[in-house]
Amino acid sequence: MSIRENLARVRATLPTHVTLVAVSKTKTPAEILEAYQRGQRIFGENKVQEMTEKWRQLPKDIQWHMIGHVQRNKVKYMAEFVSLIHGIDSLKLMEEVARQAARYRRTIDCLLQIRIAEEETKFGMTEGEATALLASEGWKVLESVRIVGVMGMATYTDDREKIVREFLHLKAVYERLKALKVACCEFSVVSMGMSSDYPIAVTCGSTMVRIGSSIFGERG
Ligand SMILES: *Cc1c(COP(=O)(O)O)cnc(C)c1O
Repeated sequence: MSIRENLARVRATLPTHVTLVAVSKTKTPAEILEAYQRGQRIFGENKVQEMTEKWRQLPKDIQWHMIGHVQRNKVKYMAEFVSLIHGIDSLKLMEEVARQAARYRRTIDCLLQIRIAEEETKFGMTEGEATALLASEGWKVLESVRIVGVMGMATYTDDREKIVREFLHLKAVYERLKALKVACCEFSVVSMGMSSDYPIAVTCGSTMVRIGSSIFGERG
């Protein structure tokens, strides 16, 4: 199946209120352009340098989402153009995003990454840590970041019930954080679901799915 056909098939399964992030990590600019020519404008990358190189080469109306773990010293390279950072997992990282966004007179939208899987390897905060971050005085004066929601990854497993539990947990955390009504936050995004589990994520209340291999094929 071609990228074009895959994209059409994935889109056909998504309700209109769910935003599709086409995860293009390791894929070439030519492959990205194939999806672009079919109207896709939001692409996700997990490495800052790779995303920056693609941003330079590709049409400027593409919205680039950073979906991977972000090192603080790399924020400066993407601050000029990144449209959404999915993996905010500390106040220090958010402060650096604010500092770099201010240099470009931008406001950068961010998601708080919540750890919902049992796997040790997955990044993210507990609900308590996210609540503490929102409660801390430090960042409220930072006009150059806006928290717009949460992101999480379920355990990689065949156990459908487990995935459902983890996604429903993330959705519940989202609702509770949103209910805090913290200034500078505009909660509207629940980023959950990838190729293996996005249909489940959508039934659990996802508003944004991050899909790579089902569109571009397996990564080498
Ligand atoms: C790679 C990646 C995806 C997409 O994974 P696929 O299985 O290829 O759909 C989604 N989210 C994150 C955070 C990723 O790193």
